[in-house]
Amino acid sequence: MSTEEAIKISEAEWEIMRVVWTLEEADAATINDVLHEKMQWKFATVKTLLGRLVKKEALKTRQVGKKFFYSATISEEKSIHEATQELFSRICATRMAENLAQMIEEVQLTPSDVEQLIQTLKNKKTVEKIICNCIPGQCQCHRNSGK
Ligand SMILES: [Zn+2]
Repeated sequence: MSTEEAIKISEAEWEIMRVVWTLEEADAATINDVLHEKMQWKFATVKTLLGRLVKKEALKTRQVGKKFFYSATISEEKSIHEATQELFSRICATRMAENLAQMIEEVQLTPSDVEQLIQTLKNKKTVEKIICNCIPGQCQCHRNSGK
């Protein structure tokens, strides 16, 4: 896989990645222990997911005796950024602000978080008009324009 291409990580695989990112290196049994209560997966499921993530080159292995230790090849920050980009690609550009506002409403923020967001907004370069890049029929933008 080229380094340019984002690795697609499924919801179940994210659960595994978060444990590996946190522990930096872990074997299957340790990952299973962390996720057992939350996910109620069979150990075989954890092993299947680990196998998939190795195949996708999101994880690499290091063998010590009979044990395999897993570590991430992609950073948590980069993966979150890519997942966010993917989410944004599903939203019409003209509706981004309302969606961002809603996200802000829904998350917990400290006063310093709010201050940081205000600074980000103050420094934000704006555009005169937002150009929708959806195809006709996938958003409301084209409805009244006769296209
Ligand atoms: Zn649109």
